[in-house]
Amino acid sequence: MRTLLNSALPTKEYFLDYVEETSYCWYFHGSKNSDGYGIWKEGIQITAHRLSYLLFKGPIENKIIHHTCECKMCVNPDHLEATDSPQAHGKLHKQKRVQDGKQTPILISRPFNG
Ligand SMILES: [Zn+2]
Ligand SMILES: [Zn+2]
Repeated sequence: MRTLLNSALPTKEYFLDYVEETSYCWYFHGSKNSDGYGIWKEGIQITAHRLSYLLFKGPIENKIIHHTCECKMCVNPDHLEATDSPQAHGKLHKQKRVQDGKQTPILISRPFNG
């Protein structure tokens, strides 16, 4: 990931040709890897949601990209959140499971601002 070249990235428009945008999730229509995540194979090989994050939100570095919607094939940048470590990522999943409405929701996606 660290050696990723910008020139190897598709344009947003090209990437979106592979995406079905619904009013909530955006479904990737390309290949799937064994973990159930969409995978991009042109120019670079990267999971589709990480590619979406790179294209719409910016550099990922070594972060883990979490789906706030919990849908593995979703590439909606509004549903993608970078977490710093596997621990932080695990916490998000745990917190969502125990969320009972009394706590302030922690999984609010920020508005997409380009
Ligand atoms: Zn989604
Ligand atoms: Zn996650």
